[in-house]
Amino acid sequence: MMLVPTAAAPRPLPDLPREELERVLVADGVPATHARTLWRALHHHLAAELAERDEFLPPLRRWVAEHVGADRRFSLEFPAEADAIASSDGLTRKFLLRLADGQTIETVVMGFKGRHTACLSTQAGCAMGCVFCATGQMGFVRHLRPAEIVAQVHHAQRALRAAGQDGLRNLVLMGMGEPLHNYDHVMTALDIITDRSGLNLGPSKITISTVGVVPGILRLAAEQRPYHLAVSLHGATEEERSALVPASRRWPLAELMDACRAYFAQTGRRIFFEWTLIAGQNDSPAQAERLGKLLHGLAAHVNLIPLNPTGGFAGTATQTDAAKAFQQVLQQAGFPSTIRQRRGMDVAGGCGQLRAEKARESAARK
Ligand code: SAH
Ligand code: SF4
Repeated sequence: MMLVPTAAAPRPLPDLPREELERVLVADGVPATHARTLWRALHHHLAAELAERDEFLPPLRRWVAEHVGADRRFSLEFPAEADAIASSDGLTRKFLLRLADGQTIETVVMGFKGRHTACLSTQAGCAMGCVFCATGQMGFVRHLRPAEIVAQVHHAQRALRAAGQDGLRNLVLMGMGEPLHNYDHVMTALDIITDRSGLNLGPSKITISTVGVVPGILRLAAEQRPYHLAVSLHGATEEERSALVPASRRWPLAELMDACRAYFAQTGRRIFFEWTLIAGQNDSPAQAERLGKLLHGLAAHVNLIPLNPTGGFAGTATQTDAAKAFQQVLQQAGFPSTIRQRRGMDVAGGCGQLRAEKARESAARK
């Protein structure tokens, strides 16, 4: 049988960090200044297409005509908005974005006036299987490529511009997926997102949330990445934690805390710890006390998140009084904490819930 060579799929232009884009154009004989014009068109002006841009001079126009398109070396295609819903108070908007292969991911924009935060997805599905999480319940589908992470920021910025609002100030990688399981793509995306002449989000305004992928935490510290780290704990003993977070069997709590201490020693940066509050399961004062002991010696801030119920898990959210009592014990142990407000969260839920809901609806129609 003859093997017919098939053309490689075009590489999405927003996969390329600025230096790489410059190298590509210079290698093709286009001066670096034109690469910078192209970069600004993409990431500063948020151009959705490149055919009719007044600021492009002939060498750049020719390069775009020759190299960018569905059957070319590079492509420029943004995820389609499959759904968008707003919370009843209008402060939270959730977008369901359809990727080129049909996968859907969620991006959330929350906040008001000049203080908008976007919550980004880093994978379609997730391999970590946390029992209360809608994304964990769907299993792992695939990693997102850098362009698919960057495109979520584009989408959020476009939506804010269209509504006449100020742009994003903060980013949290707390959407679908485990960012440190997709380390390289996430770091490339963040290099692009923080570039001063493009999207220009401040590294100190970005938080990476992890279920506790120990090698990833150590790598963040070794590479001195300038982002904040949030670690999802949910349990302060190995037994209680592994019942909710199966990944704890792979990276046990003791190892995870050692990694957090090493991270703190190397970076001097305070760590955020996340704790999903589930009634009767991990919300007693005794459990709060154990958490305080576990964090001893660390500069830490605890985010308490009352559970958003999901289809695949029977638990319910801790009520406000019990959440406040939990918080008080932590306070006495010397740790500040925030109970994540549910205001506006009627749409945000836990990430993965909109996609799960849509999948149920389309199954019901069949
Ligand atoms: N995979 C990363 C980031 C995405 S999840 C991580 O696990 O940290 C972001 C946060 O939302 C985590 O702390 C996670 O435990 C929490 N979360 C997920 N589903 C939730 C739900 N249904 N209710 C409350 N918090 C949830
Ligand atoms: Fe994955 Fe985070 Fe959900 Fe756990 S909580 S399944 S790590 S997305």
